[in-house]
Amino acid sequence: MASFDGFEYEVIVVGSGAGGGMAAHVLTEAGIKVLLLEAGRDYDPITETPMFHQNHDAPLRGTSTSEKNFGYYDATVDGGWQVPGEPYTQAPDSRFMWWRARMLGGRTNHWGRLVPRFTAADFKPFSTDGVGTDWPVDYEEIAPWYDKCEALIGVCGDNPGLDDTPSSSEGVLLPPPKPRVMELLLKSACESLGIAAVPMRRAILTQPKDDRQACFWATPCGRGCAVGAAFQTTTSLIPWARKTGNLKIVTNAMVKEVHLGDAGKASGLTFVNRLNRENVRVNADYVILAASACETARLLLNSISEGFPNGLANSSGQVGRNLMDSLGAGVSGHIPALRNRPKYNEDGHTGNHLYIPWWGREGQKNGELNFSRGYHFEVGAWFSSPSMGIAGAVDGYGKQAKDEIRSNYGTNIGLSLRGEMLGSDDCYCEIDEKTVDQWGIPVLKFHWKWSEQELNQVAHGLKWGRKIIEAMGGVINNPDRTAEQAIEAGGQIIHEVGTTRMGDDPSTSVCNKWGQTWDVENLYVMDGGVFVSNPHKNCTITILTLAMRNATRLAEQLRASKEQKHHG
Ligand SMILES: Cc1cc2nc3c(=O)[nH]c(=O)nc-3n(C[C@H](O)[C@H](O)[C@H](O)COP(=O)(O)OP(=O)(O)OC[C@H]3O[C@@H](n4cnc5c(N)ncnc54)[C@H](O)[C@@H]3O)c2cc1C
Ligand code: SF4
Repeated sequence: MASFDGFEYEVIVVGSGAGGGMAAHVLTEAGIKVLLLEAGRDYDPITETPMFHQNHDAPLRGTSTSEKNFGYYDATVDGGWQVPGEPYTQAPDSRFMWWRARMLGGRTNHWGRLVPRFTAADFKPFSTDGVGTDWPVDYEEIAPWYDKCEALIGVCGDNPGLDDTPSSSEGVLLPPPKPRVMELLLKSACESLGIAAVPMRRAILTQPKDDRQACFWATPCGRGCAVGAAFQTTTSLIPWARKTGNLKIVTNAMVKEVHLGDAGKASGLTFVNRLNRENVRVNADYVILAASACETARLLLNSISEGFPNGLANSSGQVGRNLMDSLGAGVSGHIPALRNRPKYNEDGHTGNHLYIPWWGREGQKNGELNFSRGYHFEVGAWFSSPSMGIAGAVDGYGKQAKDEIRSNYGTNIGLSLRGEMLGSDDCYCEIDEKTVDQWGIPVLKFHWKWSEQELNQVAHGLKWGRKIIEAMGGVINNPDRTAEQAIEAGGQIIHEVGTTRMGDDPSTSVCNKWGQTWDVENLYVMDGGVFVSNPHKNCTITILTLAMRNATRLAEQLRASKEQKHHG
């Protein structure tokens, strides 16, 4: 056993977000001692979450700024599209945006908590349509773990039984909240077009669970949820792991290198103590990297040794490759028939209660569409607390302007397309040899280019989004926007995955199907880096599920080897 600061441990976990939080929970529950290294600062959701603060009390009425990209009260501390002193660079003509949260719990403190499962076809894309690469696991293997993960974190939703919405087992899901007026209108418009709008799955408690309270439908979830209704590792997995007595957390520990020891195993890590800038070396028997897909790739690429001159566990050359995000584009409009509707409290969590799953697989099979895979639409359409921008395009001033704003309030609808991009040689990250961050660690350089496939998919989505809003009797904003104008930058949807993909073949993948690197036996990846493709469903439930499954296997192996030693 290694030890740090008087604490003996068997496994080091790097990162405390979705993947790292789950790994720490599973291992500590199994009686394994874990040292968790987190680059960000400590964060206490009970005292720090600004749930009940009012926008009018904040600078600039809480609006987004370059320091607080998603508004003054957003839960992200020390991060956003830029982390001060920790830049990243882009290749010429590439546009990639990278959201990082330097805090205990990482991005789970403020994520959207939308958690649709992947389908059987999503795990086997090549076998389904001859494009891309199959995962080394199939849906049947992962489905019981989805059930366990959903039951643990708490997911509301239902099983509509569509080909894009695999069902959870009986009793796993919590009841979904009721659709609101605009969503009912949307549902009926979709039905008139032959497509479905169904309850969105969200990692939000609609009933109390364990030591967490049910949602009380009142505060913006992006600020974090101190009562634990919205899943984040800081109100669940991490405190639970702490309670076992098997966890030691070191915050402000920016890991810069994984060391390779004799026998080709990872022997330890060096981190920079961000408070005093000292390098600290810690030994390790087992290492789990869950620093988020791109940070994990960066860490491996920066871990150079004689055996691995191109980065640790990178004999395949695949570390940093296969970088994928979700496609993003928006369609919006307003529904004149809803002008002057009575104002009331539209109870609900601050996310969409319904969404539109992908409906086009049949058309694709018949060769009717000019792109592979598909997308879903998330829906933004309910009375939310008025904020900056409420006046929108209203012209004028005084009573007439105020009356107009009141009349329009609650008439706007936005459909956000989230689509599957295909992995491409044009999209990857590598070390920028010319730039280091404030800790002296070489930074990532991103390469990105959308292909025809993605543009065709967005063009299809714009056409259908407009059709849907028009079927609601709506008027489209920006009706002439093209796919090229609408498509968001790479990384902007914050679903980046795939940089250390798993596979069956060590020459084309970094990890095996357990997230264990092919090259270094005691080194694991448990974040989105292991993804082989990036289906349009939001990625985090699959990150959590794979981390749960893979950490459970590691725990079983460690327990078995301890028992063997004990009996031997
Ligand atoms: C606004 C927003 C909305 C989102 N909405 C959704 C959604 O609705 N559904 C969905 O599926 N996904 C959503 N996501 C994405 C989701 O947050 C991520 O997929 C998920 O958090 C990834 O988990 P992770 O463990 O890989 O990384 P993270 O949660 O980012 O955690 C990584 C942790 O590692 C730490 N770290 C990084 N580098 C180092 C280092 N060198 N040494 C030590 N520690 C390090 C970081 O500080 C961080 O705490 C959203 C994200 C954002 C920002
Ligand atoms: S709306 Fe519900 S889930 Fe969201 S922050 Fe408020 S209590 Fe938590």
